[in-house]
Amino acid sequence: MTTSDNTISRKDFIRNSALAMAGLTLIPNIMTASPFFDEKNVSAKGKLSLKNVRLETGFTYEEGDVIATKTDLFYIEVDNGKITKIAPNQPNAKAVDAKGLLMLPAFKDMHIHLDKTFYGDKWQAVRKRTGGIKGMIELEQKMLPEMLKNSTFKAEKMIELLQSKGTSFARSHVNIEPTSKLQSLKNLQKALDNKKKGFGAELVAFPQHGVFYTDSVPYLKEAAKMDIDFIGGVDPFNVDGNIEKVVDFTVQLALDHKKGIDIHLHETADSGLKTVEYLIDKVNENPSLKGKTYLSHCFILGKLEAAKQEEVAEKLGAAQIGIVSTIPFGRLVMPIPTLYKHNVTVLTGNDSIVDHWNTFGTGSVLQKANLMAQLYGYSTELALSRSLKLATGNILPLDDKGVQQWPKTGDQADFVLINASCSAEAVSRISNVESLVHQGNVVF
Ligand SMILES: [Zn+2]
Repeated sequence: MTTSDNTISRKDFIRNSALAMAGLTLIPNIMTASPFFDEKNVSAKGKLSLKNVRLETGFTYEEGDVIATKTDLFYIEVDNGKITKIAPNQPNAKAVDAKGLLMLPAFKDMHIHLDKTFYGDKWQAVRKRTGGIKGMIELEQKMLPEMLKNSTFKAEKMIELLQSKGTSFARSHVNIEPTSKLQSLKNLQKALDNKKKGFGAELVAFPQHGVFYTDSVPYLKEAAKMDIDFIGGVDPFNVDGNIEKVVDFTVQLALDHKKGIDIHLHETADSGLKTVEYLIDKVNENPSLKGKTYLSHCFILGKLEAAKQEEVAEKLGAAQIGIVSTIPFGRLVMPIPTLYKHNVTVLTGNDSIVDHWNTFGTGSVLQKANLMAQLYGYSTELALSRSLKLATGNILPLDDKGVQQWPKTGDQADFVLINASCSAEAVSRISNVESLVHQGNVVF
């Protein structure tokens, strides 16, 4: 058996059969398939018109508290990848019938490894780890040549999984080290090219085996000249044994090629905090890196005392360094609310779907927003609706006061139609995504 998902129509068929088996009565909307399903030539010449599209229009208050989200039905036109018209609903228009489904911004998975997965191939559970991060590097050196053989195919399967969950954009780390050299990048670029009509990505050149521990420097320098967006990294102290040397190299390479930075930081000892503080200093010294520097995981934040968390969050916010978190729970809970309080950009991603690191990725970032809401008690209408931003890369239909801010004419036509009455319900129920449109192209 393979791990790859079936097609969307098959997925809907199975879901509907399961509901029928459970003896559930047909509730309107629950059985809705993609409105684009029966439509022919829905995007003739890149144009698309939709009617009965539900958009959020404001909040309902009771004694000062948001108790509900107001919505209305609209008529929407898409042309040349952009939303060109948002008008009062025209129920009789010759247009795709969105059947009252809620339109939300398409989802973004901002930390994933599309190049390195078992997904689409044979199932394998994670093996017992020995030797920490260096043990894992040794394991990868053995596994990668085999994994690379069909990595384009597996990346395409994983993109299809993400799309089925409403995601049309990803920030993918891609291994750059002496074992893969630039092959993992080239194979992934081929997959992205094959999928480009319905999926976009930005890439992080990721020295998984250390910058210097295995000599990745020449490959990183070559990758930096290619079509990548960020210089990556991993645990500068635990892998390379030298925070300053690694961060200095990374910062310089990013500056030389006008790239961003996104470093995996799992270290929870003193070295973790030192790395965070050193990176903050370097970004403050080089303000062009503000707004395009990220720390992925950054588990050390979860280990700090509350006062120190506040202090570091404030510094991260001031330096405009973002945190990309998979929302871990259990022994480690990240101070996400503190990060929000200090205006730190918080992003999420699945990281692993099925690979030798982890096999629990569902492919859904809406599920991550749900997990965040559960973990931090974001359970009111307002708090749930705000939680959606974790799934959309911080785009929300309504601002905090309930003023409509998305979509606007001229916005990129990247959206989902979801079986929910509002964002809060979508987050709380992890509602089903019925269709995905990427840059005006109907994915399903
Ligand atoms: Zn990762």
